[in-house]
Amino acid sequence: METSEIAGWLREEDPARLEVLWREADAARRQHVGDAVHLRGLAEISNFCARNCAYCGLRAGRTDLKRYRMTAEEILECARLAVSLGYGTLVMQSGEDYGIGRQWLAETIRRIKGETPLAVTLSLGERPAEDLREWRDAGADRYLLRFETSDRALYDRIHPPLPGRRSDRFAILRILKDLGYETGSGVMIGIPGQTFMSLAEDIRLFRELDLEMIGVGPYLPHPCTPMGGPRPADAEGNQLPAAAEGDQVPNSEIMAYKAVALSRLACPSANIPATTALATVNFDRGYELGLSRGANVVMPNITPPSYRALYEIYPAKSCIREDQETFHRDLVRRILAMGRTVGSGRGGNVRFVRARGDGDSSGRRS
Ligand code: SAH
Ligand code: SF4
Repeated sequence: METSEIAGWLREEDPARLEVLWREADAARRQHVGDAVHLRGLAEISNFCARNCAYCGLRAGRTDLKRYRMTAEEILECARLAVSLGYGTLVMQSGEDYGIGRQWLAETIRRIKGETPLAVTLSLGERPAEDLREWRDAGADRYLLRFETSDRALYDRIHPPLPGRRSDRFAILRILKDLGYETGSGVMIGIPGQTFMSLAEDIRLFRELDLEMIGVGPYLPHPCTPMGGPRPADAEGNQLPAAAEGDQVPNSEIMAYKAVALSRLACPSANIPATTALATVNFDRGYELGLSRGANVVMPNITPPSYRALYEIYPAKSCIREDQETFHRDLVRRILAMGRTVGSGRGGNVRFVRARGDGDSSGRRS
């Protein structure tokens, strides 16, 4: 699909036409990745962050937030919980926390891989190539790094570099691919200043980047960030205006579904989650609507409850309301009620697994 055609769909508001989009995305999902919904246990292992993204509640500049970093034993506990709930993947996410040392994490990954059959996904920000290599060697399977927006000028305003180090998430995505990670990226939807053409270009890029995983969700303002106040500002404190009348992408629920559906059509075999941000804007139906409009993954939060409220990327994340077991039971019931199944095994990207000749798309270890 050309960028202009994607933009046309993003602007579409006729419910009957949108039904066509939902149906096409759902059919592509069924044809390419099947009915299984893969569950990934998400452990938010640290809320320390060296960066100052203008949109995020974990930004270094937030001095009012209590910070935590999980111990290796706490992470192992999360891995065991993931196994006991039947998940095939442990996702470790954190701020860009250099207190998470290269060797320490490599050792922790080795312990997880030694003790459990889990696939390990990392989402730890823009770490140097040596860290990424060491963790891959230790057994990490996948890495998630959203490029947030392909509008470079907008990106620079909301995602300031570390001193002396230009932020180039596209370059890191290439490194991840070269290292043999299953690679995921994505964007936020409805960033002030994000135009329809720019979001359409993001989605076209998903295809060009040949991503194995794509995560998109609405941008949700956090009041303790420069962008989250009544007059959104960039990381320098300068006002961040919305795009021109009619050009600004709204951070609405429906726009997020459109982006999920178009991502599925752009990358039919990608693993695409119905994100927590979606379930936050629609607590009752967000997962179902995401899953029936192109998504095939859910990432239940298995962070220990005492830390969960501190991992406040945006306010009122849907998952902080329930304990892991209750959430899990309810989620499985909801998936089955849709006529879908719960994925077994590691749930790797079907094309990636096939290309590597593992011969087991479910990822079960032989
Ligand atoms: N520090 C890592 C991983 C944690 S942040 C990183 O930055 O990659 C994970 C994702 O949360 C980010 O990529 C961003 O897309 C999303 N995010 C951050 N702030 C958000 C907000 N206010 N609303 C919605 N999503 C947000
Ligand atoms: Fe840190 Fe990631 Fe939040 Fe940016 S988005 S402040 S890197 S946690």
